[in-house]
Amino acid sequence: MGKRLQGKVAIMTGAAKGIGFATTQRFSQAGAKIIITDINQDAVNGAAAQTPNAESYEMNVTDRASIQVVVDQVMQKHGRIDILINNAGITQDARLIKMSEAQFDTVVDVNLKGVFNCTQLVVSHMLGAGASAIVNASSVVGIYDNFGPTNYSATKFGVIGFTKTWARELGPKGMRVNAVCPGFIATEMVKAMPENILQDIERRSWLGRRGTPTEMANVYLFLASDEASYVNGVALEASGGISL
Ligand code: NAD
Repeated sequence: MGKRLQGKVAIMTGAAKGIGFATTQRFSQAGAKIIITDINQDAVNGAAAQTPNAESYEMNVTDRASIQVVVDQVMQKHGRIDILINNAGITQDARLIKMSEAQFDTVVDVNLKGVFNCTQLVVSHMLGAGASAIVNASSVVGIYDNFGPTNYSATKFGVIGFTKTWARELGPKGMRVNAVCPGFIATEMVKAMPENILQDIERRSWLGRRGTPTEMANVYLFLASDEASYVNGVALEASGGISL
């Protein structure tokens, strides 16, 4: 793995575990200065302790003041932000008729408005950085939908909408905006699903298995690096071909 992100400063949300944590490891190996952020201070400290060239901050993507504090500190210390990975996301699944308003609002607040909050507060600092990249976490559920998660699928469709809109708005300013659409990846989020559904998903995937966080980290690394310098506004599915 070459030093594809040498000298870049990368802010990553929801980075203490799962796909976000795996991505911090890949970015660190690729030479980036990693700004690990997550809602839980102990978890971010633990993640940063395992990651060379990392700093950690407690940051809740639904709290604009907490995002602003991190952005100000990073700019004061490093004077630049080159990459933003909007990875934080949650599920609170229920069928339409059973979904509470609180379940709907909570998931929209983190998965959709959180992406808006972070991008809006970071983007003006990225404009001067030269070639810069934003990568958002969508999902195969944001392309094909799924049975049950009204709130989650709406947010993941919405993230693709953000991605395409911002790719047009920011592309002329030298910034690329893309999304990753993971299939079913072995993290705590997926462990919450019933085992019979997971086995069915594995059967339907053409690779016959769940993906790993590291396989998703490799996709984030490609989209964030200059190797993807002509890739803008895509929703890149990484699912083992589950929809084929
Ligand atoms: P995970 O649950 O393992 O990790 C998510 C992280 O986000 C956690 O560390 C959590 O503390 C953090 N987080 C939650 N709310 C937050 C908030 N308000 N502010 C800041 N951080 C917050 O999840 P994962 O499986 O690694 O998923 C990462 C992203 O990938 C999510 O956006 C998810 O929707 C998406 N995704 C995951 C899968 C999958 O199969 N695991 C599939 C498609 C998309």
